[in-house]
Amino acid sequence: MAIGRSDKAWTLVLCCYACESRFTLRRLTFDKVSSVPLTVPCPYCSARPVVGPRNAGERLQVHTIVDLSDETHCYYRKSINRQTWHSTAECSHWPLDDFIELDSRPFAGELCSECRGVLEDFRKKPRSS
Ligand SMILES: [Zn+2]
Ligand SMILES: [Zn+2]
Repeated sequence: MAIGRSDKAWTLVLCCYACESRFTLRRLTFDKVSSVPLTVPCPYCSARPVVGPRNAGERLQVHTIVDLSDETHCYYRKSINRQTWHSTAECSHWPLDDFIELDSRPFAGELCSECRGVLEDFRKKPRSS
């Protein structure tokens, strides 16, 4: 595991595969973010995720990740002389000095595609191992 990830807290919003209720899990470690959609029962209908071999065409029985945010970096940064905003410290272009910071989504400028990609990866394959 990369240094610096372990001490971060993540907020994860899941959608239950059975009843489609949404629920939020807070203060998760990076490891947990990949495993909870496959392990936690739904707080509403108590459906448990089912992993392992499935028959062809059978519905995937794991909760869907609706949203993922990094509690310690839930803001936007951009370098003073660039136009692109970054939204996750996992991004290789995340500005570390000479940056402007916003705590809400900026109206002007564009969002970094790598930052979006990092979050998309979580949605596509909740399991990283
Ligand atoms: Zn449910
Ligand atoms: Zn970025």
